[in-house]
This record gives sequence, C-alpha cells and structure tokens, in this order.
Amino acid sequence: MRYAETGFNLEVDLTRGNIERVETDPRDTELYLGGLGTNAKILWDRVPPEVDPFSPDNLLIFSAGLLCGTPATGCNRTIVSTISPQTRLMAFSMMGGFWAPELKYAGYDKVILRGKSPDLVYLWINDDKVEIRDAAHLKGKGTVETAELIRKELDEPKAQVAAIGLAGENRVYFASIEQGRSSASRGGIGAVMGDKGVKAIAVRGTKDINISQPAEFLALCNEVLEYIKFRNANPIPGVMPILAGLGSPQEMAVHDEKWHTENFMWGNSRTRRKDFWNEDVAKKWMETMDSVRTRLISCYNCPMKCGATISIPGLPTYMMKCFSKLTYTMAAMSDLDFGFKIAQRATEYGVDGFSTPQVMAFALELYENGILTDDHFPGMPADNEGRFYWLLDRIVRREGIGDVLANGTYWAAKAIGNGADTYAHNNIKKHEQLPLKLSMLNPIYFLMYSTGEKINITQIEGQFPQAPWPTREEREAFAKDWFQVPDEKFKQYLLDWELRGEKSIPYYPTVQMCCDIVDWQERMHYIDDALGMCSGLSSFPLKPPYHIHNYPKFISAGAGIDMDEAKLTQAAKRYRTLVRAVNIRRGMRRKDEKPPENHWKKRFPELEKELLDTYYQFKGWNSDGIPTKASLHEMGLDYVAEDFVKRGILTDGEDAPAKEASAEKEKK
Ligand code: SF4
Repeated sequence: MRYAETGFNLEVDLTRGNIERVETDPRDTELYLGGLGTNAKILWDRVPPEVDPFSPDNLLIFSAGLLCGTPATGCNRTIVSTISPQTRLMAFSMMGGFWAPELKYAGYDKVILRGKSPDLVYLWINDDKVEIRDAAHLKGKGTVETAELIRKELDEPKAQVAAIGLAGENRVYFASIEQGRSSASRGGIGAVMGDKGVKAIAVRGTKDINISQPAEFLALCNEVLEYIKFRNANPIPGVMPILAGLGSPQEMAVHDEKWHTENFMWGNSRTRRKDFWNEDVAKKWMETMDSVRTRLISCYNCPMKCGATISIPGLPTYMMKCFSKLTYTMAAMSDLDFGFKIAQRATEYGVDGFSTPQVMAFALELYENGILTDDHFPGMPADNEGRFYWLLDRIVRREGIGDVLANGTYWAAKAIGNGADTYAHNNIKKHEQLPLKLSMLNPIYFLMYSTGEKINITQIEGQFPQAPWPTREEREAFAKDWFQVPDEKFKQYLLDWELRGEKSIPYYPTVQMCCDIVDWQERMHYIDDALGMCSGLSSFPLKPPYHIHNYPKFISAGAGIDMDEAKLTQAAKRYRTLVRAVNIRRGMRRKDEKPPENHWKKRFPELEKELLDTYYQFKGWNSDGIPTKASLHEMGLDYVAEDFVKRGILTDGEDAPAKEASAEKEKK
C-alpha cells in the first residue's frame, strides 16, 4: 500500500488526445520525495536540453506535494514545473489554494501534460473519469470567469479549477496559472499551458489518502496547531510586521506598509521614497483596505487567513494574491486604490504580479527617455494609471509594442536595442527580480540571489534573521528558544553578529558561515516544495512550526518512509542538485549567477568572488557551478555525471572546466 501519495500519475498526450493512469515507482519517492523532487527527476529523464519551451516535447507537470491531502496543516501546494520560455531554464512555481489536495483525493499525485492540442481544450478529472473537453467557448475568458463557467457547465460547484487567461493563451512570458486565491506565476508557466492549448484543469476527488501511522501523524499535526497558536500570540519583537508572525500577512492581513513602501523601489525599480509613510497615508490605506476587503480567507486546511476576497464597486469579486496590491501601486507611483483595481484585471488576464508591473514601468521609462516614441504608443492615455491599463491590455493581447513587452524586460530590451538594456536593470537569469535596491552588499543575500534557481528571492530566504538586533541582549532573547536551528552553531553566528563594527556586513557572517546559512535556508524551501508545504509556515518565517527536526517524523508517520534528519537532508540535496543539473545541461553557468549590477551601491568584487568560489565548493560544484562527478556519485546521481561527460560538460577529470554553454541560444 502507498501512504500519503496515491502512487499514480495522469499522463496526458494532448497531440493524440490520449490519457493514461500510470503507476509510479515508490523508490523514486524515497530518493526524491514528491512534488518538486520527482518533477525534477521526470524533467531530467524526459526533457533533454534540445527541447525548446514551446516544443510539444516540453512537459508541463502539475504535482501535489508528498503530504498534500493529509491532515498536515497548510500542506496544500501544487508544484508546477516546466522549461520556462523566459529563462529557458527549469521553472518551478508553486500555488496554494485547494487544487493539490483535490487532485490527491481524485487518486493522482501528478498530471503530466505533453504534446499540443490542435484546439483549445480543458481537462476534467473527476475521480477515475478523466476527459479532454472542448474549450472553444472559453477562449479569451478571464481566469476567475473561466473557473466559474466550468463549474457551472459541469454542474460541480466543488470542482477546483486551475486556469489561464488571455496572457497564457497568447504565450506572454510572464503568464500565470490562477486557482482559488492563489497562482503559479513565476517563470511564465502559464505561457507553456497556453502553448499546449490547455485553458484549464478542473478536478474533483472523493477518495481517501492512506496515512502510515495515523495516531502519530495526528499528534504531530496537533503539535503544529498548538505552536501556531503560540506564535500568533507571541510575535517576534523588533522585526517588521510581516516577519513577526507566520503565513503571508503581507497579502491582506497587514496594512502597515511602512517597510515595503519605504524600502522597495517605486517605478521601474528606481525610486526610493524614504519618507512616504505618514499618518495620513496610513489612515487612507487602512480605509481603502477595509472598504474593499469582504472577508479574510485561507488556503486548504490552514487557520492563517492570509488572503482576502476583494469587492470593488463596478468590478467582479476576486481574491488578492501574494503581494499584488503593492506591486502595481508602486510601479505606477500611484495609490493603493489603483493597485486593487488593476490587480482585478491582471488576475483575470493571468499574469505574474511581480514581473508585469515592472515590465510596464520599464516601457514608460524607455518612453520618457526617448528610446520608445509616440509611434509605439498610439492612443495611450496621458495619465499614469490610464497608461498602465493601456499597456496591460496590449501586452496580454500581444498588440503593437505589447508584443515585444510580452517577452519580459530582458528579451524586450534586446529586441528594442538602442540602449534599452540599461533600463532592464533588475533581472537575474533573464527574469525580473523584486524591486529592492540597497546600499551595502549583504553576503548572505548575494549568495541567494546568485545561486537561487527558484528565481524569486522570497522563496529562497527565511530561517536566519535578515539583520542582527542592535544589542546582544536582544539577540540572546531571540536565540533562547530558537529550537528550529539544525545546529547550535547558528545561534552563535547570530549572537556575534553586530550592526556595525568588525562583526558586521559585508565581512560578517564570514564566508563559511554564509555558506552554512544559505544552504540551510535553501534546504528548507526545497523540502517544502517536495512535501507541498506552504513556505509561510515553514521556510519563510522566523521560528516556524515546521522545521528540520519534525519534518522527518511527518514523513515517516505520513508516508511510511523511514526518515531521519540526515536522510532528509541528503534527499533534498539530491533533487536540488538535479534541478541544477537540468539547468547546467541547458547552458547555465557561473556567468549567469549574479544579482542585478545595481542591487547594492557598495560592492566588493573580491569578497563576492570568494563567496561564490567557497559556496560552489561547499555544494560540491566546480568553479563554473557544475556539480562534480564525486558529489554526483555521493548522491547516487551517477547517471547525471555520465550524461555530463557524454555531452562534454564534464570531462573524465574530476573538476574539469565546463564546456562553453551549449543551450545559450538567445533565440526567441
Ligand atoms: S499560511 Fe497563508 S498562504 Fe500559507 S497555506 Fe495558510 S492561508 Fe495559505
């Protein structure tokens, strides 16, 4: 019997209209867990680097995490993986909401799409009955609208629907897949879904999931719930509101936006408004929040209520996701009211809430600087907010300049030329980053930005405080009950870390300590992404309820896999390396691993080189960032080493210099 997982994937060949229920190998679960881990294995095995993102041979994998559908609180993530049209690397974007548990209850761990449908279709998974249905009538419809229409025509109000909007249909490189109050946004995975001709996947499941040791598992779940109550009652003192508690309160629960509005950049990631937040703004923004927020809502099986339904007079109700309320507001140098209104349209179109506002602000900066002219913007309104709506409409339809902008700032700048690339100044691995520009190099963030393959920094950071408390007493108070650390040495790192002086950034934490910290943070995110856990209860906040000490117990009691901390660490390292291997095979190298040039004003080239050299070594990668044969062998990934040697990426020499990037074809 399989526990926690169903042991079956749905394989859908869209070209032939064929659907198969395929049993999976339980040994893969032991080696790679589930979710992201087994997604990476499938992409490695079945999508060679010659396959373009919009090839029928690219796969689009929707995976429930290993523990989704069990009673584990907050375990509801769908991990969507494919080759990104924007980065040309592996994209793995997570969505919360309700879809993944429903898929498990229907009897499947993953839906794997391959090929391309000649006509627009949607998939209807109703327990054992799975159909490919015509979606011609849904062409051009919004994501929320599509979900409603599908539920009505199926007469199944409980169906969970993941859908793309116009942006996905038109293969916009930052198109999202929307579901419930969540979305899988980063990497342009909605464009791949549109390219495959799939408008939506609706799922309804009524089966059970087996738990290996139900009593032990429920006891663990209760411990987590108790701890959540404790943390809600005891926020961490001395940090910004969004880091004081658990979950994603920046979505809709918190309206103190002093930190974001004063520290994140406005416009095209250029302008800081240090004194923006004052009593008047606070009052006005609170009134705006209260007037549009109908009710706070949670994802499946979670008490946190991070999101909210938003009802604005004259507009359909929608659900605010992630941080969209401020990304549009700040890119347009506008007001919160505008952010709520345009986010409704953007949600229906199905676009990423971080990239889209930046792309529009980038276009307007090019216009202001004469690189784009009136000819590129025929009929664009004069007011700033009107311009954003106008641009959004053109981008998702790929009309005029919108067709160029729809490929994101990196590719748009290349197409526009004439110095436009200096305005696309906020990219990592060809993807728009958070608009955060700072003064002094932070060595921990330098490593995370450089080597992160999840692209989004908020999905890499988390366990270690972002800055030290000013006094040792405060640091001691924090470290006192910090039981989540994998090793006591992390407490000492924090205790000795000072705001100024010898033991402050950029030279403290030391290079070796930075490696330990970044590795720990990344490991926790990768574990979440295999189990399907919301990072808001695990890898993102300080002192979370899920951590390296209780996760092995959850896996053992839930999935029936004999697990301990060392084995879990090794499994996470294994599939994290596999993600890197997929990307190395597609041409990613050290030269791609750098934060935006202007991310910090004060840079330290020698220190940065040492950081990267040391971290690469720490991870078992050679000086070009390629996993070495020895480290691959240690993780049981000899098949990766063999492939690397066959392709000339590694030679038989252990730390051979990498062959020049083969997949670095900058073609459209
Ligand atoms: S913590 Fe918030 S984002 Fe995470 S599962 Fe719960 S409600 Fe969803």
